[in-house]
Amino acid sequence: GFKCGIVGLPNVGKSTLFNALTKTAAAQAANYPFCTIEPNTGEVAVPDPRLAQIAQIARSKEIVPTRISFVDIAGLVRGASKGEGLGNQFLANIREVDAIVHVLRCFEDDDVTHVEGRIDPVADAETVETELMLSDLESLERRIAGVRKKATGKDKEALTVLPMMEQALALLQDSKPVRLLLDGIAAEDLAILKGLNLLTSKPVLYVCNVAEDEAATGNAHAEAVAAMAAEQGASTVTISAAIEAEIAQLDADEAREFLDTLGLEEAGLDRLIREGYDLLDLITFFTAGPKESRAWTVRKGSRAPQAAGEIHTDFEKGFIRAQTIAFDDYVGLGGENAAKEAGKARDEGKDYVVQDGDVMLFKFNV
Ligand code: GDP
Repeated sequence: GFKCGIVGLPNVGKSTLFNALTKTAAAQAANYPFCTIEPNTGEVAVPDPRLAQIAQIARSKEIVPTRISFVDIAGLVRGASKGEGLGNQFLANIREVDAIVHVLRCFEDDDVTHVEGRIDPVADAETVETELMLSDLESLERRIAGVRKKATGKDKEALTVLPMMEQALALLQDSKPVRLLLDGIAAEDLAILKGLNLLTSKPVLYVCNVAEDEAATGNAHAEAVAAMAAEQGASTVTISAAIEAEIAQLDADEAREFLDTLGLEEAGLDRLIREGYDLLDLITFFTAGPKESRAWTVRKGSRAPQAAGEIHTDFEKGFIRAQTIAFDDYVGLGGENAAKEAGKARDEGKDYVVQDGDVMLFKFNV
C-alpha cells in the first residue's frame, strides 16, 4: 500500500489528527511529549465523488473506495539526528513512508505546552527539516567516499548513482532539502534518487493546525506557512485537528450540519486525504458492474497490465487487453453500453498508460 507519514514536533496535534483520520481512539492524544511511541498505521478511504456517479449508472449494489495509509510517527525533537529523544526510531520510521505529512502547530492555547515555549510554525518546520537534513547529510557522507572510489575504478553501478549523490550532497551542504531535485526529474533519475533512501527526498505536505474558530478563515501563522511552502514547491492544508476529531464522531447528516455552522464546505480531512493522494503521485481508475463499483489506485504513469495487477496478480500475468472508457464519456453518455455505441469504449493493449478516471474492464487468460 501507499503510505503517508504524519510527523511534527510533540504537542502539535498529530495524534488528534491521526485519531480523527482512523476514527479510533487507538493512538491516545495526551498533553505531553512522546505519547505516541509505536508507529500506528491507519487505512483511510479516499473520498471521490466520481465513484458514486459511476455506481449510480452501473446500478451497483456496493461502492468500494480506494484506500491509502497514514502512519502516526513518534514526535521528533531538536537533536533527533544525534539520537535525542526517540530520534533514531523516528528517522527509521520516516524512511518507511512514501510521503510526509508535516503537522505544524498554528493554534494558540496556553493549556497546551509547546516544546519550544512559543508558537512559531515556520521555525518549527525548520527545526524538523534541519534534523532530517542532518541525518541525510551524515548518511550520504558515510556512503559517498566508497562510491567515489568505485566510480574511479569504472564500477558501473557507482557511475550511475554518483552524480545523483553529488547533487544531493551539494544541496544538503547548502542546508537545502534533497526534495528540490524532484521538480521535473526524469523517471530514471527518480528511481536512482529513491534508491538513495534520503529522508528529505520525500514529498511534503504541510498541515496547519489552527484553532477551532479559525478553521474556516485560517490565521496569520497558517499564512506564514503557506508562504514558506510556496518557496519550496510544497502544498499546505489548513485544518483544526480538534474539529476533525469531533466530526469523526458524528454521522454524515450531523457532520454536514456541524460543517455548515462552522462555515466549512467539507471536512478538512477529506481535503487532507486527497492532497496526500496527490502527493504520492497516485491516480484512480474504476471498475463498474452490478455487483460493485470500485476505485483502484496506481502510480501515475502505470500501464494497463499493472492496473490489472492491482485487482489480481493473474490479471496482470494473463493480460490480453483492457476495455477503457474515460470517466467523462462514461458519465456523459450514460454508462458502458452507451459508450460502446458511441465508439468511446477503447480496446487498449499492454503499453497503454492508465489515465486518471478511466473505467476499465480487463480481458485476460487464466
Ligand atoms: P502530538 O503530540 O503532536 O501527537 O499532539 P496531540 O494530538 O497529542 O495534541 C496535543 C494537545 O494539543 C492535546 O491536548 C490536544 O487536545 C491539543 N490539540 C490538538 N489539536 C488542537 C486544536 O486544533 N486546538 C486546540 N485548542 N487544541 C488542540
